[in-house]
Amino acid sequence: LEDKLVHSERLASIGRLAAGVAHEIGNPITGIACLAQNLREEREDDGEISEISAQIIEQTKRVSRIVQSLMSFAHAGGRQQAEYPVCLAEVAREAIALLSLNRQSVEVQFLNLCDPDHWVEGDPQRLAQVLINLLSNARDASPPGGTIRVRSEASEQTVDLIVEDEGSGIPKAIVDRLFEPFFTTKDPGKGTGLGLALVYSIVEEHYGQITIDSPADSEHQRGTRIRVTLPRHVDTTSAVTRDRRES
Ligand code: ADP
Repeated sequence: LEDKLVHSERLASIGRLAAGVAHEIGNPITGIACLAQNLREEREDDGEISEISAQIIEQTKRVSRIVQSLMSFAHAGGRQQAEYPVCLAEVAREAIALLSLNRQSVEVQFLNLCDPDHWVEGDPQRLAQVLINLLSNARDASPPGGTIRVRSEASEQTVDLIVEDEGSGIPKAIVDRLFEPFFTTKDPGKGTGLGLALVYSIVEEHYGQITIDSPADSEHQRGTRIRVTLPRHVDTTSAVTRDRRES
């Protein structure tokens, strides 16, 4: 428990730092992008200047993407999110719409998500963020033509949202660091290392848990299974009758 508290406290302080940094960087970057755009329009006839301005604009876009993920990370934490009954199939639809998955290179299969017993308590947008991050990691790890499976399992009190891939797996040596903000093994520009830190914060907001099951020896491709356990939404009709009885 102490470890968890220390981790949450660290995440919260990194979150505050992230918000500050994102704010301070966001404005000047927009300024730089505008200036480069002006320069480009003014010197359209000069090939070299136009090429350099295009590169400046490209790089500012990259910084903006990092600032965006810093912002969404910074806004995680705190437990004031709205709690609704959430259908996981809806969450999946939202995640898929926001994520550009190249359907030729990976196949995503959904199982059980529409089950009426598998509704959870939470914030649908925040849960879509969780799924987007898990799916994009699964996609990045997948071999060409690999399958990603998203399914749910319910118990009396909880529902597990499970994402499985057939990718490279996660070596044991780095498992402990996965939720650390800025920890990434991806090429610069591809990964910010904020994905799983954000997932962790959102799952915490929901009083949930996350477990990673990966074969760990990277010799064979055996994939990764990530399980997010969330509070189950218990049938509202029985809650209504109980409320009536109490009043
Ligand atoms: P990012 O995706 O920006 O690297 P994350 O926090 O989402 O940041 O992930 C951290 C690291 O965890 C990744 O760089 C990768 O090494 C590892 N990882 C996460 N999900 C998977 C997966 N499904 N298969 C293999 N490695 C993974």
